[in-house]
Amino acid sequence: MSRTMLTRSHAVNCASNLRQIGMATIMYASDHAMSLPVTTHQRRAGGLSWTLSLQPYASGTITFKCADDEEKNRPYTYLINDFLTPNPAGAPDLDFSRLSKIQRPERTFLFAEASATYLNSDHFHLSDYHGHSVPPAAFAEQVAVQRHGGKSNFLFTDGHVETLSWEEVQLRISNTGSHFFDPTNAQ
Ligand SMILES: [Zn+2]
Ligand SMILES: [Zn+2]
Repeated sequence: MSRTMLTRSHAVNCASNLRQIGMATIMYASDHAMSLPVTTHQRRAGGLSWTLSLQPYASGTITFKCADDEEKNRPYTYLINDFLTPNPAGAPDLDFSRLSKIQRPERTFLFAEASATYLNSDHFHLSDYHGHSVPPAAFAEQVAVQRHGGKSNFLFTDGHVETLSWEEVQLRISNTGSHFFDPTNAQ
């Protein structure tokens, strides 16, 4: 296979990994009063990180790693958007962990690819930017925005996956009304 074909097939596999995470999430939610899976932050409340709670909904077949992940040693590439977890650290008054509270599920991303250097977490920390745009450099510190030839993959809360260019992502993170990472109606 040529390098270009290999790059493209990795990107396609990565998108299908995310699609499978989306399907498992929807099945998980229907078993849990339409609540989204939680992170290690909810351990004290008896919650189990999505890294453990989703796999049973896919018979253990979910691939949590992107083949192009530069960091070969971590167990998972994909991280959940903390805005969609209960009382995220940056905006503890918010709770968008139930699907019914998310007004534009087709616009708000649920999982994305972690950057090579964003380690030791099962979630992004985007709620710090509640009501604001995110500076591109700060977003790219957490999210791998150009892993697949200038693009990367995003799973949205309705289960669809988009392969977005960094230019397109920058448009969405600069517009607080886009609902891209912040599900609230901040304008
Ligand atoms: Zn990928
Ligand atoms: Zn955290």
